[in-house]
Amino acid sequence: MGQFTISLDFELGWGSIENGIWRRREAAGVYRELRNVLPVFLKALEDHEVSLTWATVGAMIDPPRPSDLGHLPEPIKTATRAFVAGSERETHDGRDLFEMVLNTRTPQDIGSHTFAHCRWSTPGFSVEAKEIEAAQSVAALEKFDVTPNAFVYPLNHYSDLEVLRGAGFQIARTAPRRPSTRLGKLIEMLSGSTPASELSAGPRGLNCETGSMLYVWGIRNDWRVRKILIDRQIRLGLRRAARDEGDFHIWLHPFNLAETPGLLEHSISLISKVARMRDRGEIDIVTMADKAINR
Ligand SMILES: [Zn+2]
Repeated sequence: MGQFTISLDFELGWGSIENGIWRRREAAGVYRELRNVLPVFLKALEDHEVSLTWATVGAMIDPPRPSDLGHLPEPIKTATRAFVAGSERETHDGRDLFEMVLNTRTPQDIGSHTFAHCRWSTPGFSVEAKEIEAAQSVAALEKFDVTPNAFVYPLNHYSDLEVLRGAGFQIARTAPRRPSTRLGKLIEMLSGSTPASELSAGPRGLNCETGSMLYVWGIRNDWRVRKILIDRQIRLGLRRAARDEGDFHIWLHPFNLAETPGLLEHSISLISKVARMRDRGEIDIVTMADKAINR
């Protein structure tokens, strides 16, 4: 039976420290609005008994002391300190949101999205520093009695996979196998095709899983067109999984639910749809941890 997975890169403003987009989202009230939106989404998961993978940024749930950032490359360290000092609490502190996810009646799979969301392709980010980053992310989750199995790389820039097994992870989401050019990506979207999610063996027994697609459309002029195209990609991806012709794994950020027009409603009807497919025996809905454990 084909499998369907949703993973969420749970990061608030941490994911856009380098490009500063968090400022625009903060000014637009996206992170504050997420406090109203997330309970609605979680209720849908409870109603349909669906578990997702929440890859969480450690520093978002464990406020970092300056020394906790000492392993980061210098420019990232400076930008991160400025972000923590200069952003609203709702932009960098997600403990309230994380508690909501932990308290969801249908247990959710909690994974890691690193500690400080530094891209692993950042120049000067050494293997030793990545080991500290991975260990700190685990320690942040363990304060909530969570032992994570799954790891998601910032911006899907994956490298130094062997570090993850050392930190106790069993499965990592790597980049989807997609066309490299913009034209190729456009053709892919127009044709409605998406790459299947593939599981392969990495170093030291780590499971590596490619995702299929980012589940979000734009917030500006073209969003309605992109929504139609993404809706079609998802329908076709699910149909392919139901025919057992490849697993389908989509991902998004929780804040997208508060920012992207129509995404909350679309995601709730998607949860309902995949739950019906599961109940008819057409697909399995699995978390990343499920895949690592069942492999
Ligand atoms: Zn991210």
